[in-house]
Amino acid sequence: MAKYTPMMEQYLAVKAEVKDAFLFFRLGDFYELFFEDAVLASRELEITLTGRGGGMEERIPMCGVPYHAAEGYIAKLVEKGYKVAVCEQVENPAEAKGVVRREVVRIVTPGTVMDARSLSETANNYILAVRADEDGYGLAACDLSTGELYVTRLEGSYERLLDELNVYNPAEVLGEGALLEHIRSGSSAFLRTAALTERLEGQSVSDSLQPLTAYFSEKQLGALPKGGRPTLELLMAYLQETQKRSLAHIKHIRVYEPDQFMIMDPFTRRNLELVETVRDRSKKGSLLWLLDKTVTAMGSRLLRRWIEKPLMQASLIEERLEAVDLLYHQLILRDELKQSLKEVYDLERLTARIAYGSANARDLLALGSSLAQVPQLRELCANSGSSTLAALAERIDPCQELRELIATSIVDEPPVSVRDGGMIRAGVNERLDQLREASTNGKQWLAELERHERERTGIKSLKIGFNKVFGYFIEVTKSNLSQLEEGRYERKQTLANAERFVTPELKEKEALILEAQEGMVDLEYELFSQLREQLVTHLSRLQGLAGLIATVDVYQSLAHVSATQRYSRPQIGEFYGLEIEEGRHPVVEAVLEDGSFIANDTSLTREGGSMLLITGPNMAGKSTYMRQVAMISVMAQIGCFVPARRAVVPIVDRIFTRIGAADDLIGGQSTFMVEMMDIQVMTEKATAGSLVIIDELGRGTSTGEGMAIAQAVIEFLHDRIGCKTLVSTHFHELAHLEESLRDLRNACMAVKESGQNVTFLRKLIPGAADSSYGIYCAQIAGLPGSIIERSYELLHAFEARAELSQGGLQAAVTVEERGVDYTKADKGISAGAAANAASASLTVVQPDPSLSSVS
Ligand code: ADP
Repeated sequence: MAKYTPMMEQYLAVKAEVKDAFLFFRLGDFYELFFEDAVLASRELEITLTGRGGGMEERIPMCGVPYHAAEGYIAKLVEKGYKVAVCEQVENPAEAKGVVRREVVRIVTPGTVMDARSLSETANNYILAVRADEDGYGLAACDLSTGELYVTRLEGSYERLLDELNVYNPAEVLGEGALLEHIRSGSSAFLRTAALTERLEGQSVSDSLQPLTAYFSEKQLGALPKGGRPTLELLMAYLQETQKRSLAHIKHIRVYEPDQFMIMDPFTRRNLELVETVRDRSKKGSLLWLLDKTVTAMGSRLLRRWIEKPLMQASLIEERLEAVDLLYHQLILRDELKQSLKEVYDLERLTARIAYGSANARDLLALGSSLAQVPQLRELCANSGSSTLAALAERIDPCQELRELIATSIVDEPPVSVRDGGMIRAGVNERLDQLREASTNGKQWLAELERHERERTGIKSLKIGFNKVFGYFIEVTKSNLSQLEEGRYERKQTLANAERFVTPELKEKEALILEAQEGMVDLEYELFSQLREQLVTHLSRLQGLAGLIATVDVYQSLAHVSATQRYSRPQIGEFYGLEIEEGRHPVVEAVLEDGSFIANDTSLTREGGSMLLITGPNMAGKSTYMRQVAMISVMAQIGCFVPARRAVVPIVDRIFTRIGAADDLIGGQSTFMVEMMDIQVMTEKATAGSLVIIDELGRGTSTGEGMAIAQAVIEFLHDRIGCKTLVSTHFHELAHLEESLRDLRNACMAVKESGQNVTFLRKLIPGAADSSYGIYCAQIAGLPGSIIERSYELLHAFEARAELSQGGLQAAVTVEERGVDYTKADKGISAGAAANAASASLTVVQPDPSLSSVS
């Protein structure tokens, strides 16, 4: 009976352990893939599929990549969401009996990549573990490339878990099957890029698995929230199993309560374009893009985290604002900090590489030169005049003895490889110095020998050379062979026109020279590894330092943007009323031509009305205005100045937005259904301390129903929740609500008409708009004149009919029930923009004369 060869047997045994990963099986200078792995990988990597015999009749599909180029191919597969198990030869083939022993040494997964090529410098790469229990979820998040580890507990509903998952935008999520399935389906549209890895509790059986206590102190573990420990266990077991090495840099658990931060649902995060745009998911055009003037990669990542997690505690926000305020005004100090920060490398990832044993001598030099900046940075912060920065300086541990250690050990320009020597300075190790001397002396001796042999033989072209196979040799051209003394030289190699010889003397010296060189390289590697190990014992100090430096960087970035964009310090606190004078949308303003953004005021207070109902035509600037209020809230709560002349910003617990056309269609649900589901969550979750923003409420269904739902939702928010609310609608008919809802005010975007032209003034004014100018927009868009004319004709006909049968519009019924006299306004295109609905009693609305002053 046919059988697989022993090597294929070995392959199959290893593969059985890593079924869900591509197995990169080391054979000599290649990593080979077999069977289905090969078929799929050849397609994904665009490499040739071949085959080989394996003992059976059929050939086994195979493809391979050279070992030195493997990282690139692995990165490519992992980026596509696959896992790759790297299987190495773990014994010397020369000493092996039978098939060389091979083992999986590392499994690379989307959440555990360490290769700099696959990692974004300015974003964390998170792997998450989630675990459900009877009344909530445990969540642990780790960035292996920096060593950050967060643990929290989310009480209650699944939506809350999803909100939190979105904060991390994870590369990989671990958990039990049903929960992952829930994440995969349902509202997972925002998580679509994460790889989901099923893990059962206690799944890991590996002997080498270390318990949590090997990583964290009892004190840290004691502080974990309910369900935190098993969740963390799940995560750490997986990390150990895939990495198969020390995770010494994961030391510090950051436990937090989710309500320490403002809550935003996935849609809101996305829609406010906090860290990426909706359209192409790029950073450019997002709030992060605008605010990111950090100079270190760690600073950039920290700023992103701040934006993702606005604070809830006034004292913490004030602390940040105090530092930003000072740096806002101290241009020189800001520049000095920036200059110094520019010299600081990515300490977080450097320390992770040190822990991993993958840092080379250049990495250590980078660490050293980064540390060299610390005394100055600390000095600048301590003497800045800001109490926040001074307190931060107090906490800086300069780690100068580590800088010293590196500076005295590593040469100025070490090679990339740690296996070729040339890294360690003279004077560090006596034995190394001796070996170096021996090697140098040996080389001198060879030069001497060459000179001597030339003299003795009279052959000027005689030379001493070296190759890996024969070692050192004396080379003589064929024409000169006759001049060699008989018996003295031993022939080693014959070339086309030369012969190579050795002498016993040369052989003897060669042994010494090679021994010295080999010894040197080995010893250098050993010394280097020792140095790296020594640094590992200081990892938490280095990580602490990295965090503080990142913070300074974020402060200077926020201050820089605040100053150049002329923002002002918000007055922040735990009160209700929000008041913004001349507020702007930070990103729209930044991309528009200088000075062309029109500022608008906002007042949402208990006394003056906490709800704004904005009507007005498309393109008038309604959603920009509403978003700007949300942006100002977020910016204030991350501790940044805000785009306004003056802003009084209460701390909000949650921002809820439902804005804009949805590209979030999932599982065949209609836009309307998605909107209704979101509104449902909002009605359940919003509190009086929330900020609610709804754009085009009630669109996507029939006019009557849409209007009815819109009104009912508005009433609910007004009567039951009392949150600060901005609603835009194209149902001008809803303007009457101002009469019946105490806290609601009408507003609209001003429009100027002259002759055939309508100009959007982008100015928010009190009162309701009377027309949506829909047909006018169609006209500007260039629709044929016949269609435009026909549209007007139909519009007038519809309106005439609507007026005839007052009961026809369901909204009107509801209106009457609320006891408000409401007659639909004339909606001819000639009607002007805005007037106060209350005073105009909703008949024909005349252009507001005050508008001409707005331009
Ligand atoms: P709407 O929601 O009313 O349809 P948008 O808010 O989308 O309108 O605004 C349409 C465009 O008008 C935006 O893309 C922006 O370029 C411009 N815009 C909006 N608000 C302003 C403003 N305050 N100043 C200048 N331009 C603005």
